[in-house]
Amino acid sequence: MDLDGDFLVIGGGIAGLRAALSLSDAGDVILLTKGDPSESNTGYAQGGIAAALGPDDSPELHARDTIAAGGGLSVPAAVDVLVREGPRYVRELVEWGAAFDRDESGAPALGREAAHSVRRVLHARDATGREIARVLGSRAGGNPHIRVIGDAVATGLHLTGGACTGANFVTAAGERGRVAADATLVATGGAGYIFRETTNPALATGDGIAMAARVGARIMDLEFVQFHPTALDLDGSPRFLLSEALRGEGARLVNHLGEPFMERYEPAGDLAPRDLVARAMVREMTRTGAPVYLTMAHLDPAFVLGRFPAIALACARVGLDLAHDRLPVSPAAHYMMGGIETDLDGRTSVAGLFAAGEAACTGVHGANRLASNSLLEGLVFGARAAAAMQRPPRPSALRSEGVVDAPLPGGSAGPIPTAHIVRSLMWRSVGLLRERRALEATVRRLERWIGAATLREPESGSAERRRVFSLVMVGWLVARAALRREESRGAHFRTDFPERDDLHWNKHISDRLYV
Ligand SMILES: Cc1cc2nc3c(=O)[nH]c(=O)nc-3n(C[C@H](O)[C@H](O)[C@H](O)COP(=O)(O)OP(=O)(O)OC[C@H]3O[C@@H](n4cnc5c(N)ncnc54)[C@H](O)[C@@H]3O)c2cc1C
Repeated sequence: MDLDGDFLVIGGGIAGLRAALSLSDAGDVILLTKGDPSESNTGYAQGGIAAALGPDDSPELHARDTIAAGGGLSVPAAVDVLVREGPRYVRELVEWGAAFDRDESGAPALGREAAHSVRRVLHARDATGREIARVLGSRAGGNPHIRVIGDAVATGLHLTGGACTGANFVTAAGERGRVAADATLVATGGAGYIFRETTNPALATGDGIAMAARVGARIMDLEFVQFHPTALDLDGSPRFLLSEALRGEGARLVNHLGEPFMERYEPAGDLAPRDLVARAMVREMTRTGAPVYLTMAHLDPAFVLGRFPAIALACARVGLDLAHDRLPVSPAAHYMMGGIETDLDGRTSVAGLFAAGEAACTGVHGANRLASNSLLEGLVFGARAAAAMQRPPRPSALRSEGVVDAPLPGGSAGPIPTAHIVRSLMWRSVGLLRERRALEATVRRLERWIGAATLREPESGSAERRRVFSLVMVGWLVARAALRREESRGAHFRTDFPERDDLHWNKHISDRLYV
């Protein structure tokens, strides 16, 4: 199946859909999604979307909180764009019919989340992403200039004369196709699924990052992986996220004796930034030799169940009562701060290739993302990328301070790992606590796996081969970056370099591969 469009969008989450809606004013858009078009990380987002809309808030205050969470690495110009343009795009969502919760006066009810200095999180109960995906998805579905092709996995990008001119894809039925387009947007989301323990769905294998890396696009800041502190931890159950909004509304972390413990480790207590909470939990579990829990039992049960119905239902399915029970929790991979390096208009280092949303890295989140800023990022930078895609293609000069060129590993033989083996290795060696020896060994193993001939040609392999290729490729880039950064900052923690080192590491670093 060969298709021609003016624009190709790979991914139907918030970034891809928002971009497609703008692009449809300028030409025909083909939008590929890996699974069912309604399936994306966007659809799983619970807590909400941040925007400086409250009477006590301002873009400056939102910028200050974003930069404080970012561990010194947030790119100020990107933060400025996010917080200034964010309110406009959130209002647009409301105009398009997004049913965010409202207070008694009819204004959007603003929730509180960790490390936000004021209430600024719009939410639709505890299923905000589903509501946003509904609004954007139905708008795109009814648009004659947007052709959404579900169950169509992009497998590789085309380059013509050094510029991106579209992509190959394969459908669930095994039919192969090719889309030719003047400009291509990678909006394939994050890669939480490279880790065994994750809040992300199985489609979050970082395909877009792996594809862009293969054509030599610069990949920035991948060492910064956010581990969410409170994923439900029950044997045999998926790591369902227990949103930060629960703690924003008063939930507490307690140890096995029921004692709150966060103040012992962090002055901001339960509402400290995610990386600090996650590491404090590990310290408490190590100290007591027992699990830790989230509890809302001290709050009004009617409020808890009314405010968090979807989370309450998910808990009930595994036999837990959100309003009364102690919920066993532990950290799990949640969000990638790094990704395909872009400028403020979604341009990458390859002409004609754009990226937005979690697959991209403008540097806006620095070393750690502030809660509820990623939906906003997808909205704002998706729309900006769409505007830039309508102009003549050119590569961006970009900004990372260091670029490391490396060959795509090749030439080794040996067995190909299963997805489970790769994900377990990543969790053990490149998870919350990292150190040199394990990282070195992991980088070597991943290199050998990429080098195995079949993984070097993922496009011709089975669906499982392609999946393993993405996991191995993105895992390798994450592990390399984590090994290189000999300090601890934001979400990246090295037990052998536990301090932040501004003298040597206050910079963004990109990898660029060549074949
Ligand atoms: C459980 C959970 C809760 C969250 N809660 C919040 C929250 O409250 N607030 C917040 O701001 N953020 C939250 N996040 C993060 C946020 O949801 C994501 O960062 C954001 O939705 C990413 O949007 P995106 O458009 O970049 O990608 P996604 O929404 O992940 O969409 C990616 C799209 O790309 C497609 N795709 C992937 N690979 C391919 C391929 N090879 N070919 C074709 N299509 C492909 C997928 O099918 C999908 O359509 C949460 C994340 C999770 C997992």
